[in-house]
Amino acid sequence: RELTVELGERTYPIYIGEGLLDEAGKLFAQRGISKKSPLMIVTDANVARRHLDRLASVLTEEGFTVVTAIVPAGENSKSLAELERLIGIALEHGLDRKSAIVALGGGVVGDLAGFVAASFMRGVKFVQVPTTILAHDSSVGGKVAVNHPLAKNIIGAFHQPELVLYDLKTLQTLPEREVKAGLSEVVKHGLIWDADFVQWCDDNAEKLTALEPDTLGYALYKGCSVKAAVVSKDERENDLRAILNLGHTIGHALEAVAGYGELLHGEAISIGMVGAAKLAVRLGAPEEVYQVTKRVLSRVGLPVRLPEHLNTDDIMRAMMHDKKFQEGTMVFIVPTAIGAVEINKSVSSSLIREIVEQLKQEAV
Ligand code: NAD
Ligand code: ZN
Repeated sequence: RELTVELGERTYPIYIGEGLLDEAGKLFAQRGISKKSPLMIVTDANVARRHLDRLASVLTEEGFTVVTAIVPAGENSKSLAELERLIGIALEHGLDRKSAIVALGGGVVGDLAGFVAASFMRGVKFVQVPTTILAHDSSVGGKVAVNHPLAKNIIGAFHQPELVLYDLKTLQTLPEREVKAGLSEVVKHGLIWDADFVQWCDDNAEKLTALEPDTLGYALYKGCSVKAAVVSKDERENDLRAILNLGHTIGHALEAVAGYGELLHGEAISIGMVGAAKLAVRLGAPEEVYQVTKRVLSRVGLPVRLPEHLNTDDIMRAMMHDKKFQEGTMVFIVPTAIGAVEINKSVSSSLIREIVEQLKQEAV
């Protein structure tokens, strides 16, 4: 499957299929990645063990000069220290302005390698080779960043890739919990844009969690299509792109309060999307919005209840840090129906607090 992210002169293709790593050399060359300058593959230790040799050898056979750089797995690698170390490796191996940086991995590697590509010599070419389900979201759209100890994703840039190469085979080695967490963003793309796709996720939940190749390929194709459509209309998040944050206001607060690791990102936003759906019903949306949201997320094995030990005051405080609060009201992405959302700029914080409390009592 192939689709295109329409962004004027920065337009690029997304290729999705089984065994696509084997065609990396040909596809890289087609997209103008240079064989004269070395390219650097950035990956993490888990992914390196399973998939790095294959990608590196395919590219070498095709005539590319390949440098590899491995970072520790996990969010902590999205740091200025890793950025500096990777740029050191790039310089030692003679990368230049015509070189490309290739991200082989999940969102962590994508965001970090992308920021290397955006900043090295004021910007070099970038290729995304996502290996998690969540990365169908992070690899499309050009947001790249590292974290600061005081705030996540706060040092970053917009830097679009030359292509996205999604080999479904790499997903077969993904831990089950990561599979489900990634599906959360797939469902999100349905909830904001496409009611039929939400129904399809509902019907195919079992095949999805089992990584049945055709089902998974279609889901990622649809998820990437929605992301691409939204980004094409609003690359720099002036307005529309904010709808991609469905479930993220509560979700980010939960991640921060629980401590990164207890709840994976996708798990936290699953609970956040149930919260947004409850809120929607309170604001007048049909009851079905809540019923369907909760059912689909449960069926793909995601949590829908907020862990009781997380303190409501802490959660409210974390949301205020998330800067969308103003004078007792906040900006919230609220569903209006399945497959449609609105940006509501004046949701009262007392209502949100009520919803948070209710999320702790949610039946599972
Ligand atoms: P991740 O990159 O940490 O990957 C999750 C885990 O799976 C890691 O332990 C990794 O080593 C392992 N892994 C990856 N691929 C594997 C494979 N094929 N087989 C076995 N193990 C594998 O996390 P993620 O969930 O992919 O991404 C989360 C990050 O994405 C966060 O930092 C978040 O901020 C970022 N993100 C960015 C955007 C964006 O638009 N730029 C959007 C959403 C999320
Ligand atoms: Zn997300």
